[in-house]
Amino acid sequence: MSRSDSPISNENFLEQIINEDLSNGFDKNKLRFRFPPEPNGYLHIGHAKSICLNFGFGKTFSSPVNLRFDDTNPEKENITFINSIKEDIKWLGFTWDSECYASDYFDKLFDWAIHLIKNNNAYVDSQDQETISEQRGIPTSPGVLSPYRERSVEENLDLFNKMKEGGFLPGECVLRAKINMSSPNMHMRDPVLYRIINHDHHRTKDKWKIYPTYDWAHGQSDYIENISHSLCTLEFLVHRELYDWLIAHIPKEKEILPKQREFARLNLSYTIMSKRKLADIVKLGVVSGWDDPRMPTISGLRRRGVPPGAILNFCDKVGVAKRENIIDYALLDFCTREVLNKISHRVMVVLDPVELEIINYPENKSETLTAENNQEDESYGSRKLSFSKNLYIERDDFKEEANRKYFRLTLDKEVRLKNGYIIKGEKVEIDKEGNIKKIFCTYDPKSKSGSGSPESLRKVKGTIHWVDKNNYENISVNIYDKLFLSETPGENDDGDITTQINNESIKTFDGACAEISLRDATFDKYYQFQRKGYFKLDSKSSKIIFNRTVTLRDNIKY
Ligand code: ATP
Ligand code: MG
Repeated sequence: MSRSDSPISNENFLEQIINEDLSNGFDKNKLRFRFPPEPNGYLHIGHAKSICLNFGFGKTFSSPVNLRFDDTNPEKENITFINSIKEDIKWLGFTWDSECYASDYFDKLFDWAIHLIKNNNAYVDSQDQETISEQRGIPTSPGVLSPYRERSVEENLDLFNKMKEGGFLPGECVLRAKINMSSPNMHMRDPVLYRIINHDHHRTKDKWKIYPTYDWAHGQSDYIENISHSLCTLEFLVHRELYDWLIAHIPKEKEILPKQREFARLNLSYTIMSKRKLADIVKLGVVSGWDDPRMPTISGLRRRGVPPGAILNFCDKVGVAKRENIIDYALLDFCTREVLNKISHRVMVVLDPVELEIINYPENKSETLTAENNQEDESYGSRKLSFSKNLYIERDDFKEEANRKYFRLTLDKEVRLKNGYIIKGEKVEIDKEGNIKKIFCTYDPKSKSGSGSPESLRKVKGTIHWVDKNNYENISVNIYDKLFLSETPGENDDGDITTQINNESIKTFDGACAEISLRDATFDKYYQFQRKGYFKLDSKSSKIIFNRTVTLRDNIKY
């Protein structure tokens, strides 16, 4: 595969590290990567970056990439999350080599823990978590040694087995690595390897009462799976010393040891990239679910209508950095538009209709106009539009009086009806409340689009969309705004994101009028409602509901 096909196209510092390893004699056939989600929520766009990176290296180096579920917290994990993660990765277009689970290694990890105990490298601490944390102290001065640190190997083996058999309650004791309580790296101050959790696991059921911590499970899983480069986000940089220490202290079965390297996590403005916080807003009912179209989850973006290619391009443009930064959400929108412009089917939908009558159009006449489905790509073909004397246009496409810069319909001025004729505003009918009830216009019968007549080529300043009042489909349309008001939700108000919620993040138009071709709208297609943005048929509804993916341009707000 050439570099230009790779999801992460410019050589980044991680790729340089791998290339250096290869030039230092590392066997290319031994390269192996993994994407290691914890199945405690749905994947978000931040995960997409890690997916593109790992699977991208898989493609660049023709190496296998494992999908590994880091399933060590049975209370928070379940099979629904596992299935959604698999679906999302596939949808992004990637294929994993092996589907692995940290829980498949629980026996092995237990044996290795026994090995650590036997080598006096681990001990059972009978203090509670709070005391243990306090004793760790601060980086600049040594911590306090646990009174249980010097338990004999026999006692430790005995207690650890008792932990395994369910002989203790959660919190009564933990297994800790015996490393260095004076290390300036707090993660080296006798980290916890096992804790007691009284909860069935979605795979191992009630077999285990003790579960390995992230630090104990992760590096060892990499080792078991022969992962050559274990790429993770920057917050794990401080764990690297421990990662290497643990691998160095388990029985040495292999020559090649995995290498942990870190990159900056993706942060996106106006969103949160934390499964825990996203879970909170799902639980609170702020959104309809993990796949609510306002969510930054892969499933939310999919339902909203963001195509996978846009996410891949976005991850490519963001690149891989060594330092954290915040990416402007507008970049994702830009990538989305770029793809949708090429693949979307053009249609006309009036969201907020007002009636338009063409005074000089014959009564009872109707005609069929032809419109291209995608002017960017002829292969999309064309469709038929019905046209008659009475139409609907967008309420805000008309003003009785307007200045010279107003290019939509007004009295005494001409505009073109998209794919149709040139019309001129003549008069309006106002209802009792003072709202415009109906607009009357005249049309130029010779000005039909595409007819080739001199009148059809006449330039007018504005073009507006419309639907035939005698032949349309009633649909609902959801228009979305940002879910959060703050550019960095979670960083204000002590991290309380509920104070940051935009209560006007969804506006539904139930009386939208669509051209009849949308009766046959399908879930696999992407649509552009001309002049209104890109839309996707909602995958969860039996009615015809469309979600707006993104506006046509950056500055338009409905
Ligand atoms: P969260 O806090 O959202 O749960 P996490 O890091 O705990 O995130 P994991 O399921 O453990 O989620 O993550 C799987 C992989 O995705 C890890 O390698 C992690 O580093 C990476 N990842 C998670 N969030 C991001 C992000 N915002 N940007 C890049 N990579 C990420
Ligand atoms: Mg995590």
